[in-house]
Parts: sequence; structure tokens; C-alpha cells
Amino acid sequence: MPELPSSARGVVWNLQDLYGGADDPRIVADLALCEERCRAFATRYRGLFDSSTGPDPRVLFEALVEYERLQESMSRLGAYVSLLTAEDTANDQYRQLEDRVRQALVERENQLTFFDLGWLAVPEDLAAKILQAPELANYAHYLSATRRYKPHTLSEPEELLLNQKSLTARAAWINLFDEFVASIEYPLEYEGETKVLTQPGILSLAYHPDRELRKTASECLFRELSRHELLLSSVFNAVAQDHGINDQIRQFESPMASRHLANEVAPDVVDRMLEVVEGNYGTAHEYYRLKAGLLGLDRLATYDQYAPVANNLPPCLYESGRETVLNAFERFHPSMREVATQFFEKNWIDAEVRPTKRSGAFSASTIPSVHPYILLNWTDKLRDVSTMAHELGHGIHQYLSRKQTYLNFHHPLTIAETASVFAEFLTFDYVMETTTDPQIQLGMLCSKIEDAFATVFRQNVLTRFEQAAHAGRRREKLASEQLCDYWWEANQALYGDAVEMLDVYRWGWSYIPHFIHTPFYCYAYVFGELLVLSLYRMYQQEGRAFVPRYLELLESGSNAPPEVLLKKVGADIHDPAFWQQGLDVLRDMVSRAGKLAAEVKD
Ligand SMILES: [Zn+2]
Repeated sequence: MPELPSSARGVVWNLQDLYGGADDPRIVADLALCEERCRAFATRYRGLFDSSTGPDPRVLFEALVEYERLQESMSRLGAYVSLLTAEDTANDQYRQLEDRVRQALVERENQLTFFDLGWLAVPEDLAAKILQAPELANYAHYLSATRRYKPHTLSEPEELLLNQKSLTARAAWINLFDEFVASIEYPLEYEGETKVLTQPGILSLAYHPDRELRKTASECLFRELSRHELLLSSVFNAVAQDHGINDQIRQFESPMASRHLANEVAPDVVDRMLEVVEGNYGTAHEYYRLKAGLLGLDRLATYDQYAPVANNLPPCLYESGRETVLNAFERFHPSMREVATQFFEKNWIDAEVRPTKRSGAFSASTIPSVHPYILLNWTDKLRDVSTMAHELGHGIHQYLSRKQTYLNFHHPLTIAETASVFAEFLTFDYVMETTTDPQIQLGMLCSKIEDAFATVFRQNVLTRFEQAAHAGRRREKLASEQLCDYWWEANQALYGDAVEMLDVYRWGWSYIPHFIHTPFYCYAYVFGELLVLSLYRMYQQEGRAFVPRYLELLESGSNAPPEVLLKKVGADIHDPAFWQQGLDVLRDMVSRAGKLAAEVKD
């Protein structure tokens, strides 16, 4: 087997805190115990919600405590088998164990469904009264959050019917889209020959230093997509119509309402946020002009946005990445370094590259009574440092949330990326300060700005496109050209006269999977990133005073709605001024890049 380059060789996790190995007899014992306890739980609490006066809060409390214990033991099994298969995806023994455990867990979940359904069936006024009971304070948010779909849920046979029919409706369109888009081939003329590329291959050329190649690749991408306009626009139309029909059946008042409910965020918050981002497109223009100058161009084109500014970023060894991240965390607060140090010292990280290991990176929260585990694939690149910071950010968040009981342990979706992106910023600032070469600083800063733009500005544009397209679809079936027009308008607003859009760029909407998989998912990216930028601004301005409030946020898990959690940090997400702070950070980064560019030129 060829040696894979990585200074992280030998850095593997120790999963003993969960189980002693795939053949640990405790696994079989725990599976049996879970089954027995689920059965006992069902016998004891079935009917708990049936009385016309509702359940006794004390009994409901006891039931919830036991329910959490069950969920936690099941999660221990689930977390263990998924970490094992991530460690070695080709191991048959691991795969068989995972299958066996997953199947058992589905059966256990089925034994427990009566509990959630029983709670959902409690009439609204009675539920409101129960939620006031002091005994249930710890579970009030969980209990009310699980009821939020109630007004939009149909009768059981109706739900069953919709669920079955969705296989040949929505799910079928999604499948068709995924398989079709993955099958498109892109014949690219390059250096006198034709190379046939896949979509990831052609998209990666956006980062190529050769401008002509970037342009040809971009033209090729959109030209090929446009040849399939009939199919791609039919899928978009069908999915958008399906979304509309669902909204009608489930009584959601606007196309974005179901997504807002899933995200537990008020519609006006999102509306304000999108507007504030739009009001700051000028910052983007400023950067595009600067980047044009750095690339020696009069004007940037869409295919130049991700062109590399510096090719000389130094490598980074694992040990030095670790020190960088720990130092950056320590500057924020010593406790952050302490928690992060445990990950390294107690072998909670698997960082070496192995052929059959899962690719990418993640932090698995596991359960409150254990601790998170982190998977990295360390390749000695400078980029690995921010991935390490990102995953350790998640890891610290998950570690601190262990203060909560199981049902409040997992973070709400809207703040799921807060600690990770925040940790990346802390590390980025530290690296910038400890780097002396302005050329390298400029390269790092530009790629940081571009990453942030791709999340904040671009996802804002994507959301505006979706709003226009869904509103249009509620009136009539949309022609491909109409979709192209919506796309063009939304992009024109961002690029203005600072970036040239190729004519074929009109087809940019046609291959974006989120539009098909989860309509209106994209605004969550804007929300997540801007939230961190705004919190970071508060930290920059308040310094130490901000730290305890931030750590408290991380310790809170999901014991309250996101809005309430954020209020405690001092963030009022209803206030446009809060979101503007995040954009101010971006504006400062752009002007700093301008200064560095001038320095490099001298
Ligand atoms: Zn993440």
C-alpha cells in the first residue's frame, strides 16, 4: 500500500469510552436491555395522555426522564457503530454490526412512537396548561417544539397516503434530478484536445490559475446544462408545484413558512436579514474591483471570482496546526483551550489519512454522558488548520452542551454552525497576526473573504431567486427562459457593473441541488454565517466581557428556542442593526485586503 502523506500518521481515536470493540459483549447485552426497557416503558406509560384532564405533570416528568435514558442508551449504540464504519468503511464486520444495530434501533423507536404521538394528541389548551407545570421546566421547550407541526399535520391515514405517494412524486423528481445531473458529461476543449469531465471536475476549474481555462470551463458547464433545459426546468416546476400543493394542504401561508418553522425562526427575522445583506452588496463590489486589480484585469467576470490570488501558501504539519488552534482558543478564554486539549490528549480525534477511512471531517456529539469524537483527514495543507478549528469548535460546543439532559443536548439547526465558524474566525485572526509575509496574509485574507461571500452574498442571491421562482410558479408553469430571467435579475443585483456575467450564466439556477432537495434551505447558510460574524463583531468590540455570555450560549444546548438563547448573548435577531454588525466585519476585511494589496505592490 503506498504511503499517504500526512504528519498526522498515528493520530487515531480511541472509542473505548463507548464500547471496547465490534465484538464487545456489552453491545449485544445493551441491545437486549434496550428492548426490554422500551417494552417496560410502553407498558407503563401507554395511555398516559388519554385522560380528559391530561397527564399528571409529575408522572410526565418521570416518563420524560426514563424516555431520555432510553434515547441515550440507544444513541450510544448508534454513535458507536457510525464511528466504527467511519474509521474503516470497507470493514465487513463493522458494516454488519451497523446494519444490525440500525435495524434494532428502528424497532426501538417504533416501540416509543406512541409517546410522541400521545403528546401531540393532547388538545392545545390542555397542553398549554401542562407546559406551565414547574416540574416540567427543563422540558418545556422540547415539549412545545415537538408540537409545532401539529397545526400542519393531517390525520394518520392522510399522512400515510401522502408519505406513500411522495415516493412517486417529490422523491422521484429528486432522484431523477440527482441521477441525471450526475450523468451529464462536459466535453472541454483544452490544450488542443477534448477532455470529458464530470460536474465536480468542471466546477473545480473555477479555482484554476489559467483565466482562459476558467472561462472555457464556465461556458462549457452552462452550455451543456442549457441543452437539457426541458428536463431541468420540468423538474424545477414539478418540485415547486409540489411545494405549493403541500403548503396548501398543510395550511402554510407562504412558500418559506414551512422552512421557517423547521428552523424555529420568525419570518420577519429572515426578511430583515435578507434586506440588510442586499443593502451591503456595495462591499462585494468593492472587493470584486480589488480582486480584478490583483488579477491584472479591468473587470472581474463571474468565472474569476474564485481564481487564486496567491499560490504560495505554506504547508502545515499536524503538531503545528494543533498549537495554532490551541493558542488561538486560549486567547479567547483558557477554558476553551482546556476543553480542546482533552481532544488531543485523550485521543478523541482520528486525524491520519487512511485509504478506507471516511473522507471529509466531522465532530460527532455522541451522548451527554460520554464526549464528542472528531474525524479529520489531515493532509498537511494550511486549509486543514481551519477545518481542525471548525471541528474543534463543534466539539467544544457539544462538550459544553453535556450540561444539558439528553433532550436538550442537541443544538437547534440555526445555531448548529455557530461555534464551528466562530472558532475558525478566532484561528484565522491568530494566524494572520502570527504571519509576517504580506503576500501570504493577502492570499489567506482573500480566500477567507471569498468563502464568506459564497455563504452570505451568494446564498442571499439564491434565496431571492427561489422567492421569485416560487411566487411565479404559484401563478403558472414557468418556461426555462423565465427561470433564467429570475436568475439573471437576482445575480445582477449582486454583481452590478463590478462583475461581467457571461450570457450562458443565465443557466446558473439549473444544477443547484438545494433548490430541488430542500426549497429555501439556502437562507440558513446566510443566517448561520452572518450570525457568527455579528457575534464576532460583538466580541471585537466588547472583548472579555463577551466571553462568559458566549460560553453560556454553548452550554445551553437547546434548552430554549434559538431566539431566546441568542438574546442571552445580547443578540437581538429582530433588529437589522444586529445583522449589519456582521456585514461590518466583512467590510473591514475587504478594506484590510485593499491595504495589504497596496503594501504588496510597493
Ligand atoms: Zn460544521
